[in-house]
Amino acid sequence: MVRADRVCKSFGALKVLRGVTLEIDRGQVLCLVGPSGSGKSTFLRCINHLEQVSAGRLYVDGDLVGYQEKNGKLYELHPRAAAKQRRDIGMVFQHFNLFPHRTALENVIEAPVRVKKVARAEALSRARDLLDQVGLSAKADAYPAQLSGGQQQRVAIARALAMEPKLMLFDEPTSALDPELVGEVLGVMKNLAKEGMTMVVVTHEMGFAREVADQLVFMDGGVVVESGEPRALLANPQHDRTKAFLSKLL
Ligand code: ATP
Ligand code: MG
Repeated sequence: MVRADRVCKSFGALKVLRGVTLEIDRGQVLCLVGPSGSGKSTFLRCINHLEQVSAGRLYVDGDLVGYQEKNGKLYELHPRAAAKQRRDIGMVFQHFNLFPHRTALENVIEAPVRVKKVARAEALSRARDLLDQVGLSAKADAYPAQLSGGQQQRVAIARALAMEPKLMLFDEPTSALDPELVGEVLGVMKNLAKEGMTMVVVTHEMGFAREVADQLVFMDGGVVVESGEPRALLANPQHDRTKAFLSKLL
């Protein structure tokens, strides 16, 4: 579903991604960990067209992200084609980024109605199902300010799912939450994984990684230092940098 082949990303002289290579199969969950500044968010942002890859190849569902390849040369995709690629990818951020003046339900129907031109009645019905799925049917008419952080994040997940994405990206979805609210968000993500959603999750919740992820990837300095089955990697990290990082985390 996602294939990164020596993906590089620079901001001016700053090389943030220095050749990230990894692969995620359909239905798999990959957890990405690494020190601050190692490039985790930048990598997710490249997948989701928020940044453009500087070198290397990045594929989602077989399609080159943001580019078209012809006779071995890359051409930037037309913005409309790029937008179409992006529509199939859901992203959830650390700070929920809900529309503050819209209710939970209105937040969830916004993109399907505006971007996908889904009929309002149909979008509403589906949005209610999604709010139910994240345990928030009772909060459909609440505004973000009336919701707890965990509830807001669950609305944000429902909102991303409303576009029926084939891939979901999570960038530290529980880092801004009070500890007692982390579990409800991880629970929703766990159910999503069980239903077969392909997910890339930047998180330091190693319990979640151990239980839910198929693959744990440790990134440092813009490269994948080590990756593997989570339990095996956590029990027996091979590289000193991984060991040092995990020892601070656990
Ligand atoms: P954290 O754990 O703190 O979220 P991260 O692994 O997600 O870290 P990134 O946000 O990907 O790290 O940032 C990697 C590096 O890229 C940092 O040095 C950051 O300052 C730099 N960077 C990110 N975005 C930009 C940008 N738009 N312009 C310039 N530099 C950037
Ligand atoms: Mg980050």
